[in-house]
Amino acid sequence: MSLRVVEVPEIPVVDRVTLPAKETAVIVVDMQNDFVKPGGRLVVPTALKTVEPIRRLLDKARSKGVRIFYTQDTHYEGDPEFNIWGEHVRYGTWGWQIVDELKPVDGVDIVVMKTRYDGFYGTPLEDLLKVYSIKNVVVTGTVANICVLHTAASAALRWYKVYVPMDSISALNDFDYHAALRQVSFLYKGVIVRSSEGIEFS
Ligand code: ZN
Repeated sequence: MSLRVVEVPEIPVVDRVTLPAKETAVIVVDMQNDFVKPGGRLVVPTALKTVEPIRRLLDKARSKGVRIFYTQDTHYEGDPEFNIWGEHVRYGTWGWQIVDELKPVDGVDIVVMKTRYDGFYGTPLEDLLKVYSIKNVVVTGTVANICVLHTAASAALRWYKVYVPMDSISALNDFDYHAALRQVSFLYKGVIVRSSEGIEFS
């Protein structure tokens, strides 16, 4: 395989943004053991170091009453996606569970099980965002160019304003990581924030 070096186009990054708590949701995409933890079936090596920035963001969001959504990739025996990725996040397994550090709060946070890359596809996510009058979504999690990007894109296509903290998403390689940021910024007019610490809620 020949390695081709490409330049990443300039991606605008902001250091700080303040979002209205009542109109903003944080979406944590697929931070499940199979993708994040050693021993998982489809580990994204850099996902582990996003746990802490995401956890801090969730703490801040909770303290301001910001609604938190999780997507949980979910497959059953014979799922066609296993032909692409091998078996992963099979319903009920350890690998399917959201990592302990980011555990949803029962009865408060909303967990949306999804079967494909897009958190909106075949799920109640759109309806729930509407019910709670959400206008902005902060998208975090993994995998940057797969489920994070598809979910961010799907939100943007519905005219939600998308914010992505750079330290809170992870990909299998640098190319995929930067490609995801580029798409969010350039194509979907999302805002790339340098770190989750730069996101405040008012
Ligand atoms: Zn999957």
